[in-house]
Amino acid sequence: MNDCLFCKMVRGEIQPKTVYEDERVLAFRDINPQAPTHVLVIPKEHIATINDLRPGHAALAGELYLAAREVARLEGLSESGYRTVMNCGRDAGQAVFHIHLHVLGGRQMHWPPG
Ligand code: 5GP
Ligand code: ZN
Repeated sequence: MNDCLFCKMVRGEIQPKTVYEDERVLAFRDINPQAPTHVLVIPKEHIATINDLRPGHAALAGELYLAAREVARLEGLSESGYRTVMNCGRDAGQAVFHIHLHVLGGRQMHWPPG
């Protein structure tokens, strides 16, 4: 996906503040953090929304959570807690159409979310 912002990060055309990376997953700091830690975990493969996930993506989808777990460990959030969120589509407020798992922590979260 040539003009996808997050694909540009995967290709190294834009350098994010990387927190974690492996063969299939990249995690970097959100440019507009909503908590002391706000990291986005993305697959290196372009997948636009949760609606575009296929059975063949099952392992990759799981790897996003394993990466989120590692981000939490690196950021010292494993014990205090953190929130993971993946928005899908208009009503959820998805703004970047390359799936990303938000990892938010370092403050008390509220429920229900807005
Ligand atoms: P969404 O609303 O799609 O779930 O979340 C998109 C997120 O991407 C937002 O939290 C926004 O701050 C973040 N974002 C948008 N543009 C950039 C960027 O250029 N760099 C980084 N690091 N984050 C971005
Ligand atoms: Zn993309």
